[in-house]
Amino acid sequence: MTRYAIGVDIGATNLKMALVDPDGIVQARTTSATPKDSDPKAVISGIIAATTAFLRQVQGSGFEVSGFGFGIPHFHEGQDWEQQQTNNMPSLEGYPMRPPLAEAFGQSIAMANDVSAAGIAEHLFGRGRGTERMMMVAIGTGVGTSMITREQGLVHFSWDSIGDAGMIIVDPLGHPDCTCGGRGCLEALVSGPAIRLRALREIERGRPTALAEVKRARGDIDARDVSEAARAGDVTARDILEEAGFYLGVAFASFLHIFRPNLLVLGGGVAQAGDLLIEPARRALSRLASPWYLRRLEAIDVAALGKEAAAIGCASLILHPGRYLKVDAGPHP
Ligand SMILES: [Zn+2]
Repeated sequence: MTRYAIGVDIGATNLKMALVDPDGIVQARTTSATPKDSDPKAVISGIIAATTAFLRQVQGSGFEVSGFGFGIPHFHEGQDWEQQQTNNMPSLEGYPMRPPLAEAFGQSIAMANDVSAAGIAEHLFGRGRGTERMMMVAIGTGVGTSMITREQGLVHFSWDSIGDAGMIIVDPLGHPDCTCGGRGCLEALVSGPAIRLRALREIERGRPTALAEVKRARGDIDARDVSEAARAGDVTARDILEEAGFYLGVAFASFLHIFRPNLLVLGGGVAQAGDLLIEPARRALSRLASPWYLRRLEAIDVAALGKEAAAIGCASLILHPGRYLKVDAGPHP
């Protein structure tokens, strides 16, 4: 009988849930708003309620669920999964999430950083299938990274990840403030909010751009507007992505030297800008990185699984136990 698992991608804004089979096919899906509350217990209760509702729905359709994988946009520590570095979900800082989740859903549960999970999904079913050394860089509200190798699975030496590599410093002199409290991080230069701020500054300066009209009409703009304007030939929008791409390439050079990937996969909403971001990144990378590493980098490409990658990866932790990350399925003290 086919086994199914539920992947729950807990984002700061949305909860994305998917019922996934061992081939990574999503059999059912739903999205709801992530509960917001200064009390972490209320947040967890809301997550449990939404997951339970989805469970009932798929059980009603005849699916048997063998476990639950949860993805978080930060990190967790220890047996009770204490939440760490929760920049975008501050009320969860330090909160042990495993006990309430285990009480609600039993012992077959797993948790991973969302970009670690998305990387696993891309390596199993997406752009990175079969790749020896794949690095994923997801650019959305924040910037997350993960590294997967054929031999070791998910590379994890800092929590369940390669650490906060999206916070690698790429602009020590311009030092824009970052959500992490640091300055000059990659995230502060290429994330969706960073691109939005950059575009707003250009509009304020009076630089000619179609984005000014979008802002007048809608009251605000986002990174997607910048991509669309750039694609339509808007010079200011192209310059903004060119600059973001340059900083991305600066980060890539360091990533190459540390992680030696054969493949760099770009995920997250901002990556949909595609070549408008990747080309300047490639140029900067070629200028900066050691040729030895450059020769071994076969491609830089956009992820294949889109927004569901993290949920699919979370479910895969249950469906392919031990292949990428150890799942603690035993009795919990
Ligand atoms: Zn930072």
